[in-house]
Amino acid sequence: MSKQVLNFAAGPAALPREVLAKAQSELLDYAGSGISVMELSHRSKEFEGLLNRAIADVKTLLNVPDNYKILFLQGGGSTQFAQVALNLLGAKEGNSADYLVTGTWSLKAYEEAKRYGTINLAFPLPANKKYVTVPPQSEWKLNPAASYVYYCANETVDGVEFDFVPETNGVPLVCDMSSNILSRPVDVAKYGLIFAGAQKNVGPSGVTLVIIRSDLLDVKQHPATPIMLGYKLMAENNSLYNTPPTFAIYICGLVFEHLKALGGIAEMNARNDRKSQALYAAIDNSNGFFTSPVVPAYRSRMNVPFRIRGGDDALENKFLKEAEAQNMIQLKGHRSVGGIRASIYNAISEDNVTQLVAFMNKFLAANN
Ligand code: PMP
Repeated sequence: MSKQVLNFAAGPAALPREVLAKAQSELLDYAGSGISVMELSHRSKEFEGLLNRAIADVKTLLNVPDNYKILFLQGGGSTQFAQVALNLLGAKEGNSADYLVTGTWSLKAYEEAKRYGTINLAFPLPANKKYVTVPPQSEWKLNPAASYVYYCANETVDGVEFDFVPETNGVPLVCDMSSNILSRPVDVAKYGLIFAGAQKNVGPSGVTLVIIRSDLLDVKQHPATPIMLGYKLMAENNSLYNTPPTFAIYICGLVFEHLKALGGIAEMNARNDRKSQALYAAIDNSNGFFTSPVVPAYRSRMNVPFRIRGGDDALENKFLKEAEAQNMIQLKGHRSVGGIRASIYNAISEDNVTQLVAFMNKFLAANN
């Protein structure tokens, strides 16, 4: 038995031990095939079986309506920044899209989309470049003729999470859910497209989950769209146009089965509420020793960035070093914002968070 390490990484992130153990147990012989799942043809009945089970399980977990397709694509979340614009802007002169930029990743998506058409900001970027909130919808400028409205439900770096679904009055809503998919219930019917790089809450890196409303497959693509970036082509081929990341999809499938067995998204949601509340309480009850930069209503339940004594680098480094000595790893904030960040996705248990909180309280007592 390996030592217990609590991995608070933002992604690639912790995976359920049960899933890893299952993968280990069948690594050399998948379902009696005599070969590893990694060696299976993507056109074999075994692989198509596991792909279709994974699709069915996503539909069950997220209650996906029938008029949506589930795709497993490559290129990570970052490729979606281009793929969304190439496929959904529409090839008509004068088309545009509206972007809600609330952090590092929606900013990147906005910059990428601008390469392919007219992209409008629904509200200005923060002058100090610090992302700590979601401006109220009453202040947004949305174009009723936009091809789509884009946002990131949970900003992994900044720790800003939407607690509501933007109202777009019929304009297709596109959402990057890379770091909070499967953490809470989602009314998929409100969306035109949802995407999520797998390596946070779904599975290993190398595969991106896309949920797209079928009518959007018929929007005219940008003429320069690479074949591989056509949603329609991928939908028509059940994500098997070319060789997909078979092993990554297999692990995602195991995670879906695991979540179903635990009680599905409702259970994850309740756990994530308790976990994040415990962590924010430790921050808020520290008399300013720990501080969260994010406006409380928009604090992420998945990625919890915080500073120590207002950003005391030496003390933060001491915290990271001592945490590591306790086998609590990957707590360093993103290099662009510094400080500490605890990512507490589904695979981080309530007990893991309790241990982190106990460590924080001890550190506070010793260094206050
Ligand atoms: N969107 C979000 C919310 C992310 O957190 C990330 C990665 N951290 C990305 C997009 C980019 O994903 P990838 O590295 O898979 O391209």
